[in-house]
Amino acid sequence: MKKEELEMIYDNLYQLADLIIKKYNPCQGEGKNCIRGENMREWCCEGCKFTSESGCTTQNLRCKLWVCNGARLSSPKNKKTQECLKMLDYMNYIASALCLGKYRGNREEVIKYAQKRRFNG
Ligand code: SF4
Ligand code: SF4
Repeated sequence: MKKEELEMIYDNLYQLADLIIKKYNPCQGEGKNCIRGENMREWCCEGCKFTSESGCTTQNLRCKLWVCNGARLSSPKNKKTQECLKMLDYMNYIASALCLGKYRGNREEVIKYAQKRRFNG
């Protein structure tokens, strides 16, 4: 698969996930805090070299598609979250199959990794 094709799929999945998360709010964030009562950025991004005062400095697809068990365990009570998780999990399945959802690297590193895996097995 060509680099441009992987980039297009990566960016489309990322943008779609972003829209879905904004619409469905699976972390049920209010202000800075989520359903787990955590500061969303600090909790989910702790220790990552791409975090900054203004948020994530890269567009990592794995992080965009990941939702913790705290939010997942609230989903049986929340139909909106259930719907959202189904969509994100399906997109994660596609990203993983293409090796685009592998790790917390920056966008370029992840695409390079996926390209190598898709060509070299
Ligand atoms: S993934 Fe979990 S810890 Fe992170 S913001 Fe969402 S609910 Fe909070
Ligand atoms: S790559 Fe992931 S963990 Fe790191 S800052 Fe971005 S969203 Fe947070």
